[in-house]
Amino acid sequence: MNVLRTTPPRPLDVTTVVPQLGPLARPAIRLHPRPGSPSPHDSSVGGPLLWPAGQPWPYCDKWHEGPPAPLVPVAQLYARDIPLVRPPGRNDLLQVLWCPFEHPPEYKPPTALFWRTAADVTDILATPPEPSEVEYTGYLPEPCVLAPEQITEYPNFLDLSEELQQQLADWSTWQAAGAEVDASYEVAPQEFYMNELSVAPGWKVGGWPPWGLTDPIARFCVACGAAMVPLLTIASNEGDSNSGWTPYEDQSLAALDDADVTNPPGVQVSDANHLQLYACPEPLGHPHTDLIQ
Ligand SMILES: [Zn+2]
Ligand SMILES: [Zn+2]
Repeated sequence: MNVLRTTPPRPLDVTTVVPQLGPLARPAIRLHPRPGSPSPHDSSVGGPLLWPAGQPWPYCDKWHEGPPAPLVPVAQLYARDIPLVRPPGRNDLLQVLWCPFEHPPEYKPPTALFWRTAADVTDILATPPEPSEVEYTGYLPEPCVLAPEQITEYPNFLDLSEELQQQLADWSTWQAAGAEVDASYEVAPQEFYMNELSVAPGWKVGGWPPWGLTDPIARFCVACGAAMVPLLTIASNEGDSNSGWTPYEDQSLAALDDADVTNPPGVQVSDANHLQLYACPEPLGHPHTDLIQ
């Protein structure tokens, strides 16, 4: 970890305006992927994996022509850097790969998750296979180092009860609390909550999901029925270049709309959307699921 990224504090503490949001606060870890040369021993996006030489590399042979496609490394997350990945058992490492082709019926790249104990991998696969073909280059992430940063998120507006939605959409709520909110939000105060106070843009672990493409859809574990929680958000950009979520360290570059800041991994998921991975909250390694948002 040789990079540091710091999200500016939110313009106000939303729980002082709407105290009912307090219990809904969730930690999230923004990953802040930035161009670099990660090693298999680093957390990374699109970097080399700590893959045992003795374990066959995963391939996909469904829904596309030609020879089976080797899966592509998307993210490698060590729990020491990103504790919110909460690996099952004594594992301390999560590896996420995908097939670089969109599969029907939802036209998303199918993901495969591998949990490992890093200390068990003594002999690392030196030259993993690379795909000879991908559907779009946006499915071949550029190697990035990470600068994990824990923040606090509140639910997407669509995830809230009607009562809370009404409070957030009422200008007098903000005025009664003496909150300094830009007057341009007076016509739609809930947009202040959506843009500045609730859900961070970009790659992250944990937190609340970014809805918008559809209304919220609850996800349930196929093994135990528990409500699943957001694990990893794979994003097609890190946010608007002038958004209040741009880290201090990037603000001068963001003004230039530099692609190294707005989308360093170069990932484009299903037409510039997010691929949201969900995990079962039970620490048993139940299967994950994913969703385009
Ligand atoms: Zn495939
Ligand atoms: Zn489960």
